[in-house]
Amino acid sequence: MSLVLIVEDEKDIVELIKYNLERSAFTTIAAYSGEEALKSAKDKKPDLIILDIMLPGVDGFEVCKQLRAQPETANIPIIMLTARREEIDKILGLELGADDYMTKPFSPRELVARAKAVLRRKVSGETGGGEV
Ligand code: CA
Repeated sequence: MSLVLIVEDEKDIVELIKYNLERSAFTTIAAYSGEEALKSAKDKKPDLIILDIMLPGVDGFEVCKQLRAQPETANIPIIMLTARREEIDKILGLELGADDYMTKPFSPRELVARAKAVLRRKVSGETGGGEV
């Protein structure tokens, strides 16, 4: 069973994602700020992180950068949630290492499908070719 860390300060969105992932047999934990997300990612080692960009304090871009910079969290797949076109440009432009991104408002079913796809890619990557 896969553990998903949901990082988003809007509780309604957290609940929506949580509900849909848990219906698809994922286990979820939530973080409501960037600082909390970094701590939780390190402590709980989730299989996947869903990361909103607009967070109080440390934003999603910075969280992504810091996760990628630390060996313990560098390989955890990340799906970023963006509210605006400029944020997508920034994700792509900064080469933050996000595995996928979705724009708000998003379809929860599509998010679940993408979460599964990202995890499948990760698994096949691991069995496919040794150390990367
Ligand atoms: Ca937010």
